[in-house]
Amino acid sequence: MATASQGLHSHSYDSTLMERLLFRVAKKWVAGYSSEEAIGAASDANRRGMSAILNFLGEDTTDKNQVEIAVKEYLLMMDLMKTQGIRGCVSVKPTQLGLAVDYSMCLQNFLVLARKAKELGQFLWIDMESVKFTEDTITIYLEILKDHPMTGVAVQAYLRRSGADIIHIIEHEGKVRLVKGAYHESEEYAFATRQQVDDNYLHLLKMLADGGSFFAVATHDGKLIDKAINLNTDNCEFQMLMGIRDELKSKLVSMGLQVSEYIPYGSQWLPYSVRRIRERKRNILLLARSLVQQ
Ligand SMILES: Cc1cc2nc3c(=O)[nH]c(=O)nc-3n(C[C@H](O)[C@H](O)[C@H](O)COP(=O)(O)OP(=O)(O)OC[C@H]3O[C@@H](n4cnc5c(N)ncnc54)[C@H](O)[C@@H]3O)c2cc1C
Repeated sequence: MATASQGLHSHSYDSTLMERLLFRVAKKWVAGYSSEEAIGAASDANRRGMSAILNFLGEDTTDKNQVEIAVKEYLLMMDLMKTQGIRGCVSVKPTQLGLAVDYSMCLQNFLVLARKAKELGQFLWIDMESVKFTEDTITIYLEILKDHPMTGVAVQAYLRRSGADIIHIIEHEGKVRLVKGAYHESEEYAFATRQQVDDNYLHLLKMLADGGSFFAVATHDGKLIDKAINLNTDNCEFQMLMGIRDELKSKLVSMGLQVSEYIPYGSQWLPYSVRRIRERKRNILLLARSLVQQ
């Protein structure tokens, strides 16, 4: 299956123009197309007192060659971070490593990345995608965790199942990045209102703070960040996306807290950017303005 941006590439001049216009907005959230641009953005994050979490954009990959390309890119990126003295790590989407087509291929690929991260003394994060992959992603994580304690997985507060998942992960001394969740899920699986999601976020945050393992508070929501600061910051770090709430990031750094910036890069920037645009009305206006001002 082609990704949305591959789809755009395959069309005519009009779609190339459309892609250029969209990229004008998207580049707020992505470092650029190349690994050099990603390293540049990571080094900038380091200069601002943050660690960098690099993500090579790509998801829903069903072509094994594309999966291999992604694995090679991550191995290269981990080496580059080491040789360039970048403080940080990578974060990887399971469907980019083949989860949509072959569970064991995906597990093997994650093991390759986890071994490399261990060899280089780097952390490895696993992103969480739509709910049809949640069970497999957690199973893969717990498998990797057996030999690789410096790994962690994202858990989404909008999912009803997440409390049980966190209990399970804490039992295995795993590490969680707590996010609200970025995909469209039905009420069967997810809380419907913002308030319910925020309440559950806080509930899960307390579980993590009491749980004893390292965890990451990955949100731009000032109220939840304040609550996290009052709970237990010895064992956690704050993570935010590139291009969002830079002043808040600096404030947390100046308070002596651990902060990481999640920096995506690569040619498959469209699905990621669409999720960022949808998250906020003001971003839709930004997009509309950019299209009008071409
Ligand atoms: C480091 C990191 C890793 C993530 N990994 C995953 C993952 O693996 N799986 C997953 O499903 N989701 C992931 N997410 C995305 C997450 O689920 C949310 O979709 C996203 O963080 C927006 O929710 P919020 O917690 O910031 O809260 P919101 O309630 O959406 O936002 C709170 C405030 O933050 C600001 N803000 C939020 N989004 C934007 C934006 N796009 N543009 C400008 N301002 C904004 C606004 O001021 C807003 O009022 C990740 C997020 C972060 C920070």
